[in-house]
Amino acid sequence: MPNVTQRLRPPLDKPIFDELAIIGVGLIGSSIARGARLRKAAGRIVLADHSGETLARAQALALGDKSTSDLADAVSNADCVILCAPVGANESIGRAIASSLKPGAIVSDVGSVKGAVIATLAPVLPRHAHFIPGHPVAGTEQSGPDAGFASLFVNRWCILTPPEDADPDAEGKMRAFWEALGSNVEIMSASHHDLVLAITSHVPHLIAYNIVGTAADLEEVTQSEVMKFSAGGFRDFTRIAASDPTMWRDVFLHNKDAVLEMLGRFNEDLTALQRMIRREDGDGLFALFTRTRAVRLGIVAQGQETAAPDFGRHLSDQIEPSS
Ligand code: NAP
Repeated sequence: MPNVTQRLRPPLDKPIFDELAIIGVGLIGSSIARGARLRKAAGRIVLADHSGETLARAQALALGDKSTSDLADAVSNADCVILCAPVGANESIGRAIASSLKPGAIVSDVGSVKGAVIATLAPVLPRHAHFIPGHPVAGTEQSGPDAGFASLFVNRWCILTPPEDADPDAEGKMRAFWEALGSNVEIMSASHHDLVLAITSHVPHLIAYNIVGTAADLEEVTQSEVMKFSAGGFRDFTRIAASDPTMWRDVFLHNKDAVLEMLGRFNEDLTALQRMIRREDGDGLFALFTRTRAVRLGIVAQGQETAAPDFGRHLSDQIEPSS
């Protein structure tokens, strides 16, 4: 199995950014720091977080060249600033850094929602900075600086949603940066991003939170039975439902319209399924399950998942964390 450095290809000859500032050193921020350092995509990495404990941990893990809780200080010499905190924090972070950004600095983010982030962040940023919003479609259910790893973005999509009048050079640099971290980059509008991610990520998380919550509240089935027999399908939902509560609260509050739209469709289809079961429509159920199996095979064919059966991931199926 190739190690992280092999997966990420050799370091770049010249960094894309002389100085990169990362605000929010959790799963995503620390993974960016690790990937950027390994590939030499940034000459110097400055880490900022509001938690002293997180910064101390980031220092112990040697994730950056400098770490600080002073957001304005963190960005003052940065060519690129990437906001990696939960999306609800972006506006206040934007206000804290705005007056310290260098002329020509690029501001980007990794938020799982784009429309609401752009609506709150763009107005508080100075005109001399270039705002190129982004969303790496990669993650795990874990949080914090210890959870990150350099190869998290390898062969995963990173969606950029630049405004129509975005500076082409800034957009090109963000594309090159994510490609250096191993991602494939796609450009789309913020509203389309929010609709696509509502069905591929946000609603599935909501369903997982709901089904695990329902099981937790059942009276006829004991908690120990729920855990004992979880491999019947429930276990896969519990992994998703273990995702960070703050991050996901913010996602649902900031992508309300698209999530409600997709939930409406979901409810209609669930009602149709209910009817098929009540009417014992085996052909209908079989046809649907055949179509859904094809979707899974398509995801495997595109290299976004392994075809190996998941009885609890084998070690060799996982992308190993970096040191
Ligand atoms: P995380 O592991 O919880 O990290 C977030 C970090 O930001 C934490 O260290 C947090 O500190 C810090 N933070 C919160 N508010 C802050 C503020 N006002 N100023 C400075 N630092 C602040 O979360 P994550 O999973 O990396 O997610 C971060 C972002 O990535 C979110 O916007 C999310 O939508 C996006 N994203 C996540 C995934 C995923 O699968 N997890 C995938 C793609 C994109 P405390 O913990 O002390 O509050």
